[in-house]
Amino acid sequence: MILVVNPGSSSIKFKIFNVKDQEIAQGLAERIGVDGVLTIKYGEKKFEEKYNFKNHTLAAKEIINNLLNLKIITKLDDILGVGYRIVHGGKKLDRPILIDDNVLKEMNACIDLAPLHNKAAMVTIEAFRNVLPKTKFVGCFDTSFHATIPQVNHFYPINWEYYEKYDVKRYGFHGISFEFITEKMKSILKKDNVNLIICHIGNGASCCCVKDNKSFDTTMGFTPLAGLMMGTRSGDVDPSIISYMAGKKNTTAHEIVDELNKKSGLLGVSSVSSDFRDVTQSLEKGDKKAKLAFDIYKKRISDIIVNYANQLDGKVDAVIFTAGVGENSYLLREEAIKNVKIIGLEIDSNENKKSYDDFTKISSAKSAYPIYAVRTDEELMICSSTKKIIK
Ligand code: AMP
Repeated sequence: MILVVNPGSSSIKFKIFNVKDQEIAQGLAERIGVDGVLTIKYGEKKFEEKYNFKNHTLAAKEIINNLLNLKIITKLDDILGVGYRIVHGGKKLDRPILIDDNVLKEMNACIDLAPLHNKAAMVTIEAFRNVLPKTKFVGCFDTSFHATIPQVNHFYPINWEYYEKYDVKRYGFHGISFEFITEKMKSILKKDNVNLIICHIGNGASCCCVKDNKSFDTTMGFTPLAGLMMGTRSGDVDPSIISYMAGKKNTTAHEIVDELNKKSGLLGVSSVSSDFRDVTQSLEKGDKKAKLAFDIYKKRISDIIVNYANQLDGKVDAVIFTAGVGENSYLLREEAIKNVKIIGLEIDSNENKKSYDDFTKISSAKSAYPIYAVRTDEELMICSSTKKIIK
């Protein structure tokens, strides 16, 4: 069995897969450092209990104890490997890797690049090391799929000191999802080599231009704040706004960046919610701010589709919508594609509205490129990478 762990600063999400890649359990330890709740769902059953999770080590211990008690595993050795989702791999950790002391040192060296996320990952790895001392651990980085982005797309037009001394460049994120979708599309399209425009539109959102199976460009940048408009994140804005607003509000640049991360995007513009469903409900009732939020949201996606089609010289095998909004909102898919005016993309409204399990083709026969909605599975991707590495 493979345990896949998604660490947060006050939570640990996890899934367990059997050797056939079937999910047999999933769970969440949350409110770590506050009090603590552990939930585990397995088959039709659900376990839930309150704890006092003073730290990640106690939470990891209870996760494993309960997996044993509930007989989801019979002994520690049942877990052949643990795969971790790690947000930032910095410049050096550019592929899934067996975690040893050197890798931990490297992760520590790039903690500045994603302080909250990477610190949580390191603490969680340490916690599971205590409980599973003999098990192999694999790190899967959200940045690593983008290591292939050429310099012309990853280099910001700033001076070399930023890049050479301080590692400032476009890293890109959601790489585990983009890799999963690329592999999935190779099998759907029955092609070994694919050029794709992938729109991962969830609470966080980014697009990826995939050329010859590799990331060629992406919308997130040095941090996940860049690019498209998101649930609470602004996406691209003029960086001078930061110092200007820090002056006006008599606060720090850090505080303003925090507002751009947490109080902007759909939430900021609509003044309703960061949740796409709430925004569309208000839009349907005629709310003008919700309409503006929706219009900016879809426009940024349409603009990127045109941009990436151009970067792929028009040789696009498919445009894909994935993640919470992309998988579920026919409205967003329809409106974003309608707004792409110079390529000749067309959605089949009936197909677009049909429910589906795994993936569905939503373009009409007239569309210049096929368009799909595909369900992403980052945990399954981590499971598969972990299996490859521990072999
Ligand atoms: P994620 O971050 O991938 O979990 O996506 C979360 C976003 O997906 C939220 O903005 C939700 O409103 C949106 N979402 C989830 N289900 C639906 C749905 N059925 N229709 C529209 N949006 C949805």
